[in-house]
Amino acid sequence: MPNVKHSATGFLAKLACCAALAACAGVAKPLAESADVELFVLGVAQDGGLPHLGCDRACCKNARETGRVEYPACLGLVDRRHEHAKLLLVEATPRVEEQTALLHKLADVHGRGRTPVDAVMVTHAHIGHYLGLALFGREVVGAKNLPVWCSPRFAAYLRGHGPWQQLVKLGQIDVRAFVVGESFAPWPGVSVRAIAVPHRDEFSDTMAYVITGPNRSALFVPDVDAWDRAPGLLAQLLEGVEVAYLDGTFYDGSELPERDLSEIRHPLITVTMDKLADVAAAHPGRIRFLHLNHTNPALHDAAIRASVQKRGFTIAVMGERFAL
Ligand SMILES: [Zn+2]
Ligand SMILES: [Zn+2]
Repeated sequence: MPNVKHSATGFLAKLACCAALAACAGVAKPLAESADVELFVLGVAQDGGLPHLGCDRACCKNARETGRVEYPACLGLVDRRHEHAKLLLVEATPRVEEQTALLHKLADVHGRGRTPVDAVMVTHAHIGHYLGLALFGREVVGAKNLPVWCSPRFAAYLRGHGPWQQLVKLGQIDVRAFVVGESFAPWPGVSVRAIAVPHRDEFSDTMAYVITGPNRSALFVPDVDAWDRAPGLLAQLLEGVEVAYLDGTFYDGSELPERDLSEIRHPLITVTMDKLADVAAAHPGRIRFLHLNHTNPALHDAAIRASVQKRGFTIAVMGERFAL
């Protein structure tokens, strides 16, 4: 796909194994022109990242030995049409410091001080998606009214419970609830639509985001229940988007021998590939998977990545970019 490019220099050099996998899997070449509004992938792992706390299996033992790190699923956006480039973080993961530093590097933005980003959007209240908000509080950034976009239910949770409540009271974050299903603008010129998706909704509901820049739209659905539980949802989400980042938590379920397949709530990558075979054949690279569990063989096995690629799908890699 011509619009997604991959950076593997400098900061990312230590991710060489991941970059090499991507390269042999045929990730598209860089765009010649630089775009005003770009989206970056800042992490592709499930909430716990890789290595995963409490895992002594080969997936994480090897990562610890080689120094390989995969951050939890997260996107960053830069809008260069302003005097000072504007930055948006999609998810505030426990690795928010490293991922914001990566965003600055990829966007070539420097000297942001205590305004490391201009706005944050969060999909739902599971730890890998919002714990990083805590670092905008007085102990770390001490932000001033950082806009945090989320659903009304999530907003009520943040306003009503510590430690988030304190960030709100001290004016460090400015919680902004959007209307689910309607477009909102983190700033003029970038439009976002949140779509409710089924998921384990203990503290908040769960959103998918369609993010639209001056030319293109991207979909972000890091966490969702199996597609069969919500008939029609997948087609609705994909409508009008040029690139889709989908829940790829588990590959085919065989990576969890101790779990009954029917208990896995996420859509398996193999199932999504079967459902979207025609889309991928017509637009190779349009469908990209992230939020991979540490055990997911698509994080570790070059042959599996190559077979995914051969079918027109892609396992997203940290550092790839898409012009909106
Ligand atoms: Zn592991
Ligand atoms: Zn979740």
